[in-house]
Amino acid sequence: ESAVEVRGVDKVFETRTGQVQALDGIDLTVAAGEFVSLIGPSGCGKSTLMRLIADLDDPTAGTLTVFGKSSRQARLDQEYGIAFQQAGLLPWRTVAANVALPLELHGVASADRRSRVAQLLEMVGLGDFADRYPDQLSGGMQQRVAIARALAEQPRLLLMDEPFGALDEMTREKMQTELVRISAETGAAVVFVTHSIPEAVFLSDRVVVMSPRPGRIQQIVPMRLGAD
Ligand code: ADP
Ligand code: ADP
Repeated sequence: ESAVEVRGVDKVFETRTGQVQALDGIDLTVAAGEFVSLIGPSGCGKSTLMRLIADLDDPTAGTLTVFGKSSRQARLDQEYGIAFQQAGLLPWRTVAANVALPLELHGVASADRRSRVAQLLEMVGLGDFADRYPDQLSGGMQQRVAIARALAEQPRLLLMDEPFGALDEMTREKMQTELVRISAETGAAVVFVTHSIPEAVFLSDRVVVMSPRPGRIQQIVPMRLGAD
């Protein structure tokens, strides 16, 4: 079963100055457990495609499925974790309470939640910040909270849109290593947007190169023996 199937997807935005075609005939399959990066120049539709997979917006044409379900159903079933560049944390919840949210929604018992949250915050190097609020943290720290939250429920699919964009070099390398370890250990598929070609090459089974105006897939490059 594939983690993500994108079939014939177009996305047209209506703007005051006319239409913008962000995506044109996108076809993409991400296998279960596969790590796929999206790269390409600014405006080629990477974020739009991620938002469609995550059911944060609807395609103009075509279909998207996640583990064989509509992306809407997959969202309701918490089939995926999301870490986008804008961390999207709830400002009125502490760092720990933000990370705990998917666990709460999933009915994980309070004591288990506490230990799991503590473990996740240790992993992203924020063990001492559990009781802070998001606006008391730097952008990079907020991104790490979002990553911990995305991983909380050990989803079968992670959707990450420049999740390391605001991190310093050392933290970024540490998070890359953690992500490789986690995806290998849990068998999670990852769809990962980055501006960094070395990052895409280091992390991915396949790299999807997109081109703009309108957004299309230009090339899909296998990075590992047997990945195609
Ligand atoms: P990328 O993530 O590759 O930089 P985006 O997906 O953000 O590209 O954008 C693709 C194209 O769609 C761009 O031309 C962008 O200006 C346009 N676009 C994205 N979101 C909107 C929106 N909400 N309204 C109008 N145009 C949009
Ligand atoms: P409450 O603890 O009263 O349910 P909070 O908003 O303080 O409400 O916490 C929400 C979630 O965050 C809970 O699941 C809790 O287990 C977790 N949590 C709160 N503080 C911590 C902490 N310091 N370490 C680990 N988990 C925490």
